Amino acid sequence: MILPQLSVLADFGSGQKVALSFDDGWKNQYDEALPILRECGFKASFGVITDNIGLDRGTFWSRMNVNELKELQGYGMDIACHTKTHSRMLNLTQDRLLDEIIASKNLLTRLGFDVKTFVYPYGEWNSTVIGYVKEAGYVCARALKPEAYRLESPHPNERYRIGSYPITNQSLVEFEKILSQSTENEVVVLTYHFISDEGPRETSTPVLNFYEQMRYLRENDFEVVLLPELFMSNEEPSWEISHFIMVLAIGGLAAIFMMILLYFSRVKM
Ligand SMILES: [Zn+2]
Repeated sequence: MILPQLSVLADFGSGQKVALSFDDGWKNQYDEALPILRECGFKASFGVITDNIGLDRGTFWSRMNVNELKELQGYGMDIACHTKTHSRMLNLTQDRLLDEIIASKNLLTRLGFDVKTFVYPYGEWNSTVIGYVKEAGYVCARALKPEAYRLESPHPNERYRIGSYPITNQSLVEFEKILSQSTENEVVVLTYHFISDEGPRETSTPVLNFYEQMRYLRENDFEVVLLPELFMSNEEPSWEISHFIMVLAIGGLAAIFMMILLYFSRVKM
């Protein structure tokens, strides 16, 4: 592919973390995005709707089949669960939530996928939905609120409502502006749907735009991370452990204080 020189290379990016996410399991992601991701050496998450796997083959609306998804996983991509039927999560009955969040993950697991990420349809979640996502054993979950994810998160539930910026046909300048909205300790998550020149405007990224964006990330030394991997390292004590240590320390101090009090009360006697 021949490209014009990128014109807006700014002096930032080095080491800045970005995560890439593809929704709905469209086959054009396999056809168009995968070769570019591989060329750049980038990993990404692919949110799959289990009822739609391998659907509408031979049409524009073709979805990836199990073999194609296996190939993605073989390249180190994260196969994420994007529910069973892509229903809106709010106000579903308990049975439906079990189906959409837990049974769908179990199906993907039976098919041989190591599922760690959940993706909310339409970015919608509430505390009940998060409860099921946690119960199912997902490592993290992604929504669509356009905000960067703070790595030094104050609350363990934050990883189950990770925001992301929908990317369609933004110019490179607009793309750069999105990336510039994060600081050193944050991750910008970018969400794509169609990677196609012919898809609906509101959800499609033309192939050339996508190629330019990936080249931009590579040439400016962005660190492209895989979402679940952010939560699977043991570098820092987790929120629960650090609080446990704090409780122990307060308990210890209280015990010492009591002993000193006891000592002085005896001396007086
Ligand atoms: Zn979706």
